[in-house]
Amino acid sequence: MIKKPEQLANSITDFIDFLRKENIKKFFFIYDDIKKQLTTSHHQLQPIADYFENEGRDFIEHEGWFCKISEDYDMLLGAFIHRTNRGQAAGGVRYWDYDNIEDYFRDGLRLGAGMTFKNALAGLWWGGGKGVIAHNAKFDKMNLNIRKKIYREYGTFISSLNGCYVTAEDVGASVDDMANVFSHTRFTTCIPSEFGGSGNPSAPTARGVISGMEAATEFLGSITLEGKTIAVQGLGHVGEPLVQFLFDQKVKKVIATDINPDNVNLAKKKFLNENLECRLVKKEDLSIFSEDCDIFSPNATGAILNSKTIPMLKAKIICGAANNQLEDMNRDAKTIHEKGIVYVPDFLTNRMGIVTCANEQYGYVKNDPMIENHFNRGWEHSIYNRALQILKESKQKNIPTAKIALKLADKLSKENHPIFGHRGKEIIKSVVENKWHLE
Ligand code: NAD
Repeated sequence: MIKKPEQLANSITDFIDFLRKENIKKFFFIYDDIKKQLTTSHHQLQPIADYFENEGRDFIEHEGWFCKISEDYDMLLGAFIHRTNRGQAAGGVRYWDYDNIEDYFRDGLRLGAGMTFKNALAGLWWGGGKGVIAHNAKFDKMNLNIRKKIYREYGTFISSLNGCYVTAEDVGASVDDMANVFSHTRFTTCIPSEFGGSGNPSAPTARGVISGMEAATEFLGSITLEGKTIAVQGLGHVGEPLVQFLFDQKVKKVIATDINPDNVNLAKKKFLNENLECRLVKKEDLSIFSEDCDIFSPNATGAILNSKTIPMLKAKIICGAANNQLEDMNRDAKTIHEKGIVYVPDFLTNRMGIVTCANEQYGYVKNDPMIENHFNRGWEHSIYNRALQILKESKQKNIPTAKIALKLADKLSKENHPIFGHRGKEIIKSVVENKWHLE
């Protein structure tokens, strides 16, 4: 095992100091297919490349990642490109705080690979990647002027990568942030609707969750969701329309919790005439997990399925939009499987966010088949069909659904784009050959 390089423990600002001392403003790590090795723009960074490659936890032969020190704020701007066989790497940009540079790199690598699998399973002709801006706590994260500058700079940074990565909105980004990115690059989606963007994807995301639930109930022998009881965690942008769709499906009862009193009150008012039991809870309240229900639907935050909460579950199905629901992918997928709960993986059922925005530049038509296909039963990549396929294979092979879904996604993600082939990799190659890091 290779020793961990000291710099990985550095805070973001200490790492930036280290880069400055070494006269490095921009750097990259790329996977050299010939040498079969992760290489880097600067020899000073090679120990980090060697460490990630050998340790193998979050690095899965990512095609490359590029970073730059912000001009104004001692922040790091990054684009983590996992795989581009199906098309340019697509995934949102996150503006986040990290304790150290190792966490920053790991998050980018993990999120980038996650987008590859989500996009491939959705049948999108896009590869996978993620943008990450490491926020510097010295600056107010909500300051509009700083946000404007940093998102604009991020746009310029993305332009400099010639389109190997196409960015999008991520948690916490506003429409204005995306307008700022768009003002400095054409390589972004999720732009404001007045500029031709696709608008808020939350209702389609909730519809996608319904498709996943339908596949799971059918797998267990019921034809519809009618008469079921559903426990919903989170009544935000996705949770609230989800409750509406559930009542449209004639479910018997919805039990819902949220930590935000406004969202609880809104839901109580909106669903006054429906069988909704709605509770305002504290963040640490776990009562929703032990509700007597058919389906548990997480639509709040990640890592909520873990060794504490899984044993509490009475539901036969888990299906919701929250990202990264399993605290530990292997451990928790296995426990859920052994408990006999049907788990519809989040990255399969919550795809509509990226689906609605990824193809914005191709325009829109009424009842757009590019969107509607994901909800129907006649398209092999639809949420319903993929979920059913994965659930059946999981049962047949006695392997957790998340593992089956990942294997399928991995295979699909290696198919080359029918027109552009593996062009993303060519773009990365030319960016590197043109000495991007010295520009
Ligand atoms: P949101 O912030 O609008 O809603 C989340 C809700 O969960 C909020 O109302 C919040 O108060 C509540 N909440 C937080 N912690 C809670 C807890 N412990 N118990 C109960 N409620 C809690 O976010 P959203 O857009 O509705 O997204 C929900 C989840 O789905 C997130 O994980 C998001 O990453 C994921 N997701 C969303 C989309 C989309 O289209 N919006 C797409 C893909 C994935």
